[in-house]
Parts: sequence; structure tokens; C-alpha cells
Amino acid sequence: MCLNKRTGPSFSVVARLTLWYALICALFCGGLFFVVSHKMARNLQVREDRAIQAELIEFSVIYAEGGVAGLQHEFDYEVEALGSSQFFGRLLSPHEELIAASRLSGWEGLEAELEKIDRPAGGGLRLNTLYPADSPLHARMGSLRLPDGSLLQFGLNRHTETRFFSKIQRILLRSCVLMLILSTFSVWLIARYAIKGVRRVTTAVSRIQKNDLDHRVALGREGREINQLAEAFNNMLVRIQTLIHEMKEVSDNVAHDLRSPITRMRGIAETTLTGPQEIDLYREMGLSVLEESDRLTEMINTILEIAQAQSGLLDIRPAPVDLQALLRNAIDLFEPVAEAKQIELHLELPGDPLVLFGDKNRLQRVVANLIDNAIKYTPPGGAVTCRAGAAPDQVTLEICDSGPGISPEEAGRIFNRFYRGEKSRSTPGNGLGLSLAQTIVQAHGGTVSVESGPGEGSVFRVRLPRDSRMDA
Ligand code: ADP
Repeated sequence: MCLNKRTGPSFSVVARLTLWYALICALFCGGLFFVVSHKMARNLQVREDRAIQAELIEFSVIYAEGGVAGLQHEFDYEVEALGSSQFFGRLLSPHEELIAASRLSGWEGLEAELEKIDRPAGGGLRLNTLYPADSPLHARMGSLRLPDGSLLQFGLNRHTETRFFSKIQRILLRSCVLMLILSTFSVWLIARYAIKGVRRVTTAVSRIQKNDLDHRVALGREGREINQLAEAFNNMLVRIQTLIHEMKEVSDNVAHDLRSPITRMRGIAETTLTGPQEIDLYREMGLSVLEESDRLTEMINTILEIAQAQSGLLDIRPAPVDLQALLRNAIDLFEPVAEAKQIELHLELPGDPLVLFGDKNRLQRVVANLIDNAIKYTPPGGAVTCRAGAAPDQVTLEICDSGPGISPEEAGRIFNRFYRGEKSRSTPGNGLGLSLAQTIVQAHGGTVSVESGPGEGSVFRVRLPRDSRMDA
């Protein structure tokens, strides 16, 4: 794998985050601008409408008390006070004749617009917005039908309000844009800072790629997630280093274990070729070569079987296995060996039958390996006991011996492929027995452990589920 090769999207995470943020923020700002503008326009209009209604009521009272003259006087007074362009007012008879009106200078085109609007029915009020075609002014106005049938109209110039409103809108828009720019820039800075840790990890990984497996990614202050990434990476490195070390150990051991039988076979072949030999000697040599090749084949098969099991490809064929019968057969098989070595071999079985679902042949190999080791490493005069027990969902098998025991340092390594104890080098073996036993037990969903100490003998304990199919 090459980290320099660019794959996938060419946008950096920082750019993506910033763009997404800018987009979302723009949507929110747009929404905010729209809602605030709408609310403001609405409030403004409500306030204007209330003011218009109040004025209409005031004018109608003046008309009721002072008649047309009173109303005209009031119109004139208001024009003097406010200016003719700020408002307009007029009174129409029930037949639409103009009875009184304010000065309409500046309100060109208003009359035509006023003609177009609908008149309210008796006692009713109608509110309209007018945009006279020839005037720069526009108005919000109300029409009130008075009890005598005449029509009172009053309008307020909206020009000032509209300008004020537009100004507020512009300020709001500018604030939104400024906020968008500043916050997007801040997000860009924050994202850059957050990603700094990832860059640091990437740089460290690039260094490690160049065979610097001892290098570690330093923990920083960019945040917990980055440190977790660095820690996960460092743990992976430790694992890779261990694997490389194990692989080296395994290949060294394989080379060593293959070299000895091949050298022996070569020696036999050389002796055979040195001159005419007795036919019995040829037979003996042939037998030795056969034995050596069988040992080699068995070793290679065991290595393959362990590799298969560890990669989950071991073909386990579960069927009901009578563990008591299996143990009895194993004891019968090893009895002569134990006897020859003056070792007492005991079997302790529970009264109830012990049946589990598993691969009979492979479980036989587990038991054979453990009993074989126990007899092999126990000095003459010692004892080996096979014990079996049962719980509702699992069975336990113990192989105890009174041998030399295993030191705590060795106990952690004896299940490794090709591991052979220092003191066991003189004993025949290839360091694969326990590794194979463990992979078979694990393939059945069980565990194998050892309880031992120097000079205390050893107890190898196998725990197997009653039905390994449920763990598959
Ligand atoms: P091998 O027996 O061929 O060396 P194993 O994988 O069966 O390989 O065992 C690995 C190592 O564990 C042995 O070399 C030995 O040092 C230690 N060992 C295994 N069984 C016992 C035992 N019952 N008592 C003491 N040491 C043992």
C-alpha cells in the first residue's frame, strides 16, 4: 500500500467541512433574513393600520360634531402641521361627490387610484395599499363608511417607513453576509487545527513505511480522537512487530527442523553410495529414510493444519463423541509406553456418560499430544493422571503429571509454534504438539490452559463446549 498515491476524492476534509458549513450557514442566514424581514414588514403594517383606524375615528368624530366645515378645518390644520405629502384625507357624499379634502399636492395620480378601490359597505372599514402611477409616494389607506352614508378616506405616506424598512433590511443583509464570512473563516481555522493531528499521524505513518518500525506516533493535544487514532496505530505497530518476530522465529525453527532430517537422509544416501553393502544394511537405510520422510511429512502436515485452523479454514466435522471411551482408548494406547518408563498412568472418570459434539479424530490428537507430553517430560517413578468432569454446557479434561513443571515465563510461550523448553531440547519433539492441540480446541470453541510451576508438576486443562456447533 502506498500512502503517497492519491485515491478517492481530491477535496480535503478541511475544504469539504468548510464548504458544507458555508452552505448550511448560508441557508440559515437566508432563512433568518427572510423571517425577520417578513415579521418586520408585518409589524410595520399592523402599526400603520392601527394609526389609520385611529385617525379615521378621530375625523369621523370631528365630522359628527363640526360637520363638513369642522372636518375641512381639521384637514387644513393637519396639512399645516405635517405637510401635504405625509397624508391625505377626503370625504365623499353617498353619491361619490367630494365634500371635503386635504391638499393633494405631491399625490399625482392618487385620484385615479382611489376610484379603483372597492368601497366598504355600511359602517364598514376597508384597508388598501396604493401605488399611484405618477407619484413617487405610496400610501396605506383606510376607507370608512359613516352612518350618513358618506365615505371618509384617510391615507398615510409610506415612503419614510419603506425607506426605513429598506435600510434595516440592508443592515440585516450585510450583518448576515459578514457573519457568514467570519464564521466560515473560523470553521476553516478550526477544521485545519483539528486535522493537524491527522496530518501528524500521516507523516509518522509515512516515516514508518520507510522501514522505521521502531518509530511511534507521539500523542498530542489535538483531541481524544486523534490520540485514540495514534494509540490504535501504535498498538498495530506492536502487533506487526510481534508478528514479524514470530514469523522469523517460525521460519528459523522450520529451517532448523527441516535441516536435521534432510542432513540425516543425505548421510544415509552417502553411506549407501560409498560401496557395495550388505542387503540388510540397505534395508535398514531404506527404513531410516522412510522414517525420516514420515516425520518430515507429519511435521509439514501439522504446520499446515495449524495454519489452516488459525485462518479459520480447518474442516471440523462435529458428531457425538463419547469422551470416556476416547480417554480409555488413549490410556490403553499409552499404557505400554508409561510402563516402559515406570510411570503410573491413572484414569479418573465420572459415573455419568460424557458426550459432546466434536471432531473425534482431532480430539483424539489433542488428548494423545497432552498424554504424550506428560509421559515424555515426567521422570521415571512419576505419575500421570487423566481426569474428566462435566458441567451442564461444557466438559473439562485434565492431564496432570508429577514432572518438572513449567516456569511462569515458559508457560506463556509453550503454545507458540515450534517453541521448545530449554530443558526439553534433549527430548524428541518439534514444538508443534501444544500449538496444534490449542488450535484444535479453539476450533471447537474451547480453551486450553496450563497450571504449573517449577518442580510442582503440571496440569493441562481443556474446556470444551458440549456442542461446538453453537460456537461455530
Ligand atoms: P514438544 O513436546 O515437541 O517439545 P510441545 O508443543 O508439545 O512440543 O511442547 C512445547 C514445550 O512445552 C515443550 O518443549 C516443553 O518444554 C513444554 N511442555 C509441554 N508439556 C509439558 C509437560 N507436561 N511438562 C513439562 N513441560 C512441558
